[in-house]
Amino acid sequence: MQKVVIVGAGVAGVNAATKLVDNNFKGQITIIDMGKDPYNRLPEEVMTGFLGAGGWSDGKLTYHTEVGGQLSKYCGEEKSMELFDQVIDNFKRFHPNPSEVQCSDPQEEPEFIKPYFGLKLFPVWHIGTDYLSEIAKNWYKYLVENGVEFIWETKVTDIDFEDQMVSIGAVDEMQYDKLIFGVGKSGIDFGKHLAEKYNLPTEPKAVQIGVRFEAPQKHFQKLIDISYDFKLYRKFPDKGVSLRSFCTNNNAAYVAAEHTYGDYSYNGHAKKDPKYKNGMTNFGILMEIRGIDKPFDWSREAVQKLQINGKGTFYSPNSNRVPSKTSEGGYVKCEVVNSMLPLYEALEDYAFYIEDFIEDMKEVFPTLGEDWGIYMPEVKYLSPEPLVNYDNLSLTKYPNIHFVGDALSARGITVSGAQGNYVAESLL
Ligand SMILES: Cc1cc2nc3c(=O)[nH]c(=O)nc-3n(C[C@H](O)[C@H](O)[C@H](O)COP(=O)(O)OP(=O)(O)OC[C@H]3O[C@@H](n4cnc5c(N)ncnc54)[C@H](O)[C@@H]3O)c2cc1C
Repeated sequence: MQKVVIVGAGVAGVNAATKLVDNNFKGQITIIDMGKDPYNRLPEEVMTGFLGAGGWSDGKLTYHTEVGGQLSKYCGEEKSMELFDQVIDNFKRFHPNPSEVQCSDPQEEPEFIKPYFGLKLFPVWHIGTDYLSEIAKNWYKYLVENGVEFIWETKVTDIDFEDQMVSIGAVDEMQYDKLIFGVGKSGIDFGKHLAEKYNLPTEPKAVQIGVRFEAPQKHFQKLIDISYDFKLYRKFPDKGVSLRSFCTNNNAAYVAAEHTYGDYSYNGHAKKDPKYKNGMTNFGILMEIRGIDKPFDWSREAVQKLQINGKGTFYSPNSNRVPSKTSEGGYVKCEVVNSMLPLYEALEDYAFYIEDFIEDMKEVFPTLGEDWGIYMPEVKYLSPEPLVNYDNLSLTKYPNIHFVGDALSARGITVSGAQGNYVAESLL
């Protein structure tokens, strides 16, 4: 019997397994994850466990091939949309209240934005953060009942591509015929280690770094009414720099500290339950810088420079604005600084682009003034993207190993899940 081992029970791995099960795959499917099953996973375990990162803490499924990472480059536009639909259908199917899943589809860029920013408009499916835990439980139950084996709280420490063996801890090993590697952001160092160990050819990547911006929602309401998860952008092609607002949260919007490589960086999520309403908006101001030698090392160094006393930093020009509370009630872990100087020390002149972005937002949203704060840094460590066969996302050097999700080239739930489905199709 063919043995498929999936490393990572994230969005990509879980969608792949579901597609295999739905189509009566005859082999044995085993999923290994260092996090917990949906019954034991705690709300604050944001990155690891069943449904991975975004499948646990947020539920906005972007629905456009230009957002959330790469898919159409492998399989074309039409196929991408078909694979996206399968991911959204899965979230609806295991949703306790599917009629609440709604799609926002803004159409027109408003005039007041135009002089300063571009606005990327695309549909987003809103699953509702508060339902994710129930969705996860229903989904998990389906997979277990259909014979998928899960191994929890177990870190895969190495993979022998030649002998087709997965190492679990120091002593255990597991053989595979096909391997799906979907370790997401929390496994980025592992992916990097394997890429180096097996000398996998990779594509050059850009730096993606910036800040998480937070302000009262009222200042942005005019735009939120048009586009809930708005994406402002601007490009400086001659400088290799582009900026965009990223992952906007409204109404009940919370900033979340992420812990990667021992450093703090920031992200955000929204709650749907009215009891969490706080009238805030937060979004990343993310800058993409092309042409930096060793972008990963550069980003890590910049992130380290923004750590004080073992935490990230927070700045507001308004002394009354302090770091917010998390949805669990504690304060967002950060150290308050009294200027944007640390950002300049970390990003050098590139920090100017972020400051300028904020200054221009003050023009577009005139009530904003000094009523905002930034958590520094927000960073996307893009894993080195291994070269894969476009028809099944398998490594060009090792065709029985498939890379999916953030470990390959995704940056969002829909694309990650769709990549999982794409690989599952090739195995069927
Ligand atoms: C706070 C937050 C909010 C987000 N919100 C959104 C959103 O609203 N919309 C959106 O589109 N995207 C969002 N994202 C991004 C999205 O979550 C990811 O793009 C997506 O989850 C990637 O899917 P994946 O399957 O590749 O990896 P993940 O979902 O991250 O899953 C990877 C899994 O692999 C496991 N793992 C890692 N290393 C190992 C190892 N060595 N051994 C065993 N297991 C391992 C981890 O425990 C984890 O469960 C958010 C991310 C975060 C952190």
